[in-house]
Amino acid sequence: MQSDDVSFSGSYKLFLINKNKNHSRKRDNTMSAVQQIDAIIVGAGFSGMYQLLSLRDKLGMSAKVLEAGSGVGGTWFWNRYPGARCDSESHSYMYYFSKELVNEWEWTERYPQQPEILRYLNHVADKFKLRPDIELNTRMQSAKFDESTNRWLITTDKGQQYSAKYFITAVGCLSSANVPKIEGIPDFKGKWYHTGEWPHEGVDFTGKRVAVIGTGSTGIQAIPVIASQAAHVTVFQRTANFSLPARHHKLSADFKKYAKEHADDIYEIMTTNTNGHPFHIQNRSIFDVSDDDREQIFEELWEQGGFQFRAAFKDILTSQKANDKAAQFIQKKIREVVKKPEVADLLADIDHPFAAKRPPVDDHYFETYNRDNVDLINLRKTPIERITAKGVKTSDKEYEVDIIVFATGFDALTGSLVKMDIEGRNHRKLKDYWSAGPRTYLGLQVPGFPNMFTVTGPGSPSVLCNMPPAIEQHVNWITNCIKHMEEKNLNVIETSEESGDYWQQQVNAVANETLLPTVKHSWYLGANVPGKPQVFMPYAGGLARYTKVCNDVTAKGYEGFKFAS
Ligand code: NAP
Repeated sequence: MQSDDVSFSGSYKLFLINKNKNHSRKRDNTMSAVQQIDAIIVGAGFSGMYQLLSLRDKLGMSAKVLEAGSGVGGTWFWNRYPGARCDSESHSYMYYFSKELVNEWEWTERYPQQPEILRYLNHVADKFKLRPDIELNTRMQSAKFDESTNRWLITTDKGQQYSAKYFITAVGCLSSANVPKIEGIPDFKGKWYHTGEWPHEGVDFTGKRVAVIGTGSTGIQAIPVIASQAAHVTVFQRTANFSLPARHHKLSADFKKYAKEHADDIYEIMTTNTNGHPFHIQNRSIFDVSDDDREQIFEELWEQGGFQFRAAFKDILTSQKANDKAAQFIQKKIREVVKKPEVADLLADIDHPFAAKRPPVDDHYFETYNRDNVDLINLRKTPIERITAKGVKTSDKEYEVDIIVFATGFDALTGSLVKMDIEGRNHRKLKDYWSAGPRTYLGLQVPGFPNMFTVTGPGSPSVLCNMPPAIEQHVNWITNCIKHMEEKNLNVIETSEESGDYWQQQVNAVANETLLPTVKHSWYLGANVPGKPQVFMPYAGGLARYTKVCNDVTAKGYEGFKFAS
């Protein structure tokens, strides 16, 4: 399955390299003012749990996860909005590091719903006995690098202090909710929610008038479900969006059997392509086929559903002319589905190339506008002026509602990192160092922040990928690097300003090979958060290319990093 140095042989085998294992465990249990530990990890989602397991069970180190939530799951713990599900297919949205885990877990649907993913992550926490090393309801307050000891001093909101050799952020890329600073929100007499911080008890929309602000992946998933319950839904659209039909369905026994029997092949495909999905991008140009053939290919993929549509031709995301063909097909579909022409016009009036903003995958989103209880408001024509006691006031009208749902996205990639008080060498704060945009080497380390690693940080493929394989690649790289340091008795790893500059150039160069940076209002650039520096943040060269870069760096003796004993 995986061929990394640190992979399990067998299902759950302790890989003892740490000579001080027993000693370090004992130190961790000693109740002193500052607890000594090998590693502190922040966040108990896909990344943090696998990082804990890797350090603790493969390397035999002491490690602890600090998690602000009252349960594990990260993104899937917080994002409980109606319709929440993943738009990666379930057999690819999972860990592949353990054959036993792959074989024993059964997904029920093509695209897993949030409760099922959360069950899966809880199963992982139980199976690998991770819970004793996860501190729930605990927010990291500060992390400061002590240059005299080369250790991180980490403080939590419960007053605990840890001295850790390694500090690993596993905070997720889309975890800092972006509630827009629209005037008047505190005046609203009804209830309002952000989709990324949804109440655990759920929200009853029965008989309610609901405003939904935002038509990204989240809004597009939530709107059909809310509309099926509420008395009336008013959708406030600022930017019309492409969306692909998901074609949800239960998985057949045959498919489940196939996915298990071919797990190695599926994993091989996921880790050797651009987006980490279980299919390759077709190696043909959109202009290699006739108009009729192209139409038929698109039709078939539209019926099949999901991101395979985007993978139909190799140049959809690199050539504007090729992209136009895909965009026109989707716009035609929107007009076919939506019965009221003026609403269809609004939905199909899309100002950016297809997939240059993250394309949603939907379940009857466009069909929802044929319902009598759904209206669409064009914020480009009549912008929101304020929230009032009664609802949403645009430039021409006040919309009275009982509930406002902000499906307005996240302060992506950097938000959760700069919100934490992280201080590196020379007392330099991460938020100050990144005031002009994130600067990393490989998205794994930040210059001036020794022994700190960022799982799927800015500068890595992260959000442009199906996340689990990107996370596994990162955690494996970090774990191998730490293994190397422990074996060689090295105390410090850090990267340099030159490496950060070099990597920023690479990130920009590969982004410029695509249409992604042409969208000036995209969250990939930080443009959705007022005042955020606009820098293209993820690495757009693809997972396979990125993995090769990381492996080459390792093979060249960790080129671009410096070690100290
Ligand atoms: P998003 O893509 O950033 O969309 C936010 C929406 O809110 C956009 O329509 C945006 O309009 C609008 N908006 C933001 N501020 C506004 C304001 N002040 N006034 C009016 N409208 C405003 O956020 P998201 O939908 O939560 O998705 C974020 C990412 O999360 C996705 O791209 C995806 O990577 C991930 N996600 C994945 C899944 C999944 O796997 N199924 C589901 C949900 C989310 P503009 O476009 O004009 O800025």
